[in-house]
Amino acid sequence: MLPVVVVHGGAGHIPKERSDLSTSGVCSAVRSAYAVLQGGGSSMDAVVEAAMLLENNPSFNAGCGSVLNLKGEVEMDALVMDGKTLSSGAVSAVRNIANPVQLARLVMDKTSHACLTAEGASQFARSMGVPEVPQESLITEYSRMRWKKNLAPDANPVECQMGKMGTVGAVAVDTDGNVACATSTGGMLNKMEGRVGDTPCIGSGGYADNMSGAVSTTGHGEAIMKVTLARHILFHMEQGQSAEAASDLGLAHMKSRVGGLGGVVTVDPQGNWAARFSSRQMAWAAAQKGTLHYGLYTGEHFTQIIEDAH
Ligand code: ASP
Repeated sequence: MLPVVVVHGGAGHIPKERSDLSTSGVCSAVRSAYAVLQGGGSSMDAVVEAAMLLENNPSFNAGCGSVLNLKGEVEMDALVMDGKTLSSGAVSAVRNIANPVQLARLVMDKTSHACLTAEGASQFARSMGVPEVPQESLITEYSRMRWKKNLAPDANPVECQMGKMGTVGAVAVDTDGNVACATSTGGMLNKMEGRVGDTPCIGSGGYADNMSGAVSTTGHGEAIMKVTLARHILFHMEQGQSAEAASDLGLAHMKSRVGGLGGVVTVDPQGNWAARFSSRQMAWAAAQKGTLHYGLYTGEHFTQIIEDAH
């Protein structure tokens, strides 16, 4: 069953003209992350690899392609967590960085803290030699168009985003049975400056514990935080539920309790995995035993032998 890696490209409604890009993006990210695991890399190496590739892909709301805040600027959040030690690293409201997930990993590896924010995170990035990139390089025409549209007085940015999300995340188990998660986002469309969502908060945007499993979440951050979705799902797994049943229970709870929609990827240390969502769509892909699995709509599950997957 091991190793295994599962990624998501955000819960929501993906417009038809963008669905192929989303699917090919998650499939190529999962293949690269799987190659890392097959080469003896750790689950942490694999989830960071997947999240970085998706951050670099302008089709997703993370890194390049992030949604814009009210002022038309990019502020990104990211989290990593290691299930062996329960160490985690996060950054929130960071600007001018191509790969927030890499910075989150540096926070975990190189500081005694769990989260750095805004200017302090930028100073830390500079001290680690992480290159600064111009904000313009992270903004796409699509994100600027959506920002402008949502400035209209009658706009509903939360509903629009439930329409079209694209946060990225990954969970993995390596051959040693260690689990890890990574999540990275530009946040919610037209959010207030300084808004921090669920993504960098452990227990909400993700959680990893070798005793139960790992989860990476996506969806309306304020709803996810109310129910600490990732930890909620792992609680159900601790009570004996499968990764799939626990994911469904967590998402159903978030929907009935606070009216929130979202999606998750989940693994247990034995390599059982799930990609589940309550939104209309979620691009997801998984790799296990030389097979690529992927889907976009509820109930969709395609498979391909990895050597044949181009
Ligand atoms: N959870 C993210 C946030 O609220 C958004 C998303 O998943 O698309 O920042």
